[in-house]
Amino acid sequence: MQLSPLSQQDDARFAPKRGDHGGLMSQHYDLAVIGAGPAGAAAAITGARGGARVLVVDQAPYGRDKVCGDGLTPRAVAALADLDIPLDDAHLIDGLRMIAGKRIRELAWPAGGRFPGHGAVWPRKRLDAALIDAAAAAGAEIRWDTAGEPILDADGRAIGLRAGGETVHADLVVAATGAPGKVARMLGAERVADEPFGLAIRAYVESPRHLDKHLEACLTLTDETGISVPGYGWMFPAGDGTVNIGVGALSTMKSFKQLNLNRLLDSYRALVADSWEVGPYLDRPRAWRLPMSTTKRHGPGWVAIGDAAGLVNPMNGEGIDYGLESGMLAASLFLDDPAMAPERYDVEIGERFDRFLRTGRRFAFLIGHPWILRSGLRVAVGTDAIAKITLQVMGNLVDSSTPGAAGRVLGLADRGLAVADPVLRRTRAAA
Ligand SMILES: Cc1cc2nc3c(=O)[nH]c(=O)nc-3n(C[C@H](O)[C@H](O)[C@H](O)COP(=O)(O)OP(=O)(O)OC[C@H]3O[C@@H](n4cnc5c(N)ncnc54)[C@H](O)[C@@H]3O)c2cc1C
Repeated sequence: MQLSPLSQQDDARFAPKRGDHGGLMSQHYDLAVIGAGPAGAAAAITGARGGARVLVVDQAPYGRDKVCGDGLTPRAVAALADLDIPLDDAHLIDGLRMIAGKRIRELAWPAGGRFPGHGAVWPRKRLDAALIDAAAAAGAEIRWDTAGEPILDADGRAIGLRAGGETVHADLVVAATGAPGKVARMLGAERVADEPFGLAIRAYVESPRHLDKHLEACLTLTDETGISVPGYGWMFPAGDGTVNIGVGALSTMKSFKQLNLNRLLDSYRALVADSWEVGPYLDRPRAWRLPMSTTKRHGPGWVAIGDAAGLVNPMNGEGIDYGLESGMLAASLFLDDPAMAPERYDVEIGERFDRFLRTGRRFAFLIGHPWILRSGLRVAVGTDAIAKITLQVMGNLVDSSTPGAAGRVLGLADRGLAVADPVLRRTRAAA
């Protein structure tokens, strides 16, 4: 996505308006972004480069870490390229090693489409710093250790932020606060109660295989009672002496509430201990939520982006790319037409992602049934050709201009799962 280059001189709409609301509103910004993760940073970079006056607040200090697998698919690498973020500090990845029981398939990323032929592993502490540094370099003002919350007028329109004891006015408030919390509640942008979500846990370990060029995903995890877990265990080599190790699970599995992620991670670590020669955890394993739906992602004067908009791929837990893409889109629509931006954002993000994410959520109900998961996996990794399609579909790496076999499979899955949806929900395995 390329933005038309604007500068403050070019466009009077984005001229600074400090203090134009008298005593009540001490400062005015075009965009006020709450949250400096990938989504917030992408919005800030795009907005500031386009000449908008941008404020970003984050409640954490500069250099904060985020619980994450640090994995970037080619789709995410393409989004970073759109933002002109060089990958020099990341470890490049050629493809995915899928493991299902004793079956191992090493697959290159799909070639020839609109996405590059490589992914990456980029530890979040460094990736997020690179992104927010780019936002600051573009002219965005960043305030750390500053929690923010939207100010809503009597009609429910977001008109600015309350942050660090100050009141700030903004034409567009961007909620980039990650998995829903207080800000989402204030905006009415919460997770849809009966839709799936994920939980995942990760740590870092040292391994002589830290330079490995494949992400590794083990799709056949079982919990302590032997129930198949819809999700996967991962080894994502960071190229800096360490490997990001983790496990994630979907809420659609039976006994999800009883699932002990720490124990699941320990058992996965035992499984890979020999092949990766892993050392002890370098840090305490930490878990966090993966939101996969939202009741609302825009309203008068505001939009939600990234995790705050429930934009996580239910088929692989990927959210960095969706954060970057939604952040760029929100800001570029704002630069184009500030008044229409929230509504256009809702429509365009829907056109880009809704069908895929809806199919992913239905798929999550499907694989919540252990027997479907087990037989599905046999098919999914049964041959190299099918495994390649699985990788392309699950990674949302289908090129819409040349959809190919993966595009046809996705279309079929979309239609088939739509028909099966009521049955899937009625018979959901989760308890
Ligand atoms: C264990 C785990 C592994 C994962 N692995 C991967 C992976 O390998 N690849 C991938 O693509 N995705 C992965 N994800 C998902 C990914 O981490 C998220 O989708 C991504 O971080 C979303 O970015 P974001 O900018 O929307 O939110 P975040 O990165 O969560 O950033 C939100 C920011 O908002 C700030 N904030 C929150 N509330 C306020 C407030 N009121 N005021 C000010 N600041 C506030 C927070 O401090 C934070 O800095 C994983 C998630 C988990 C839990």
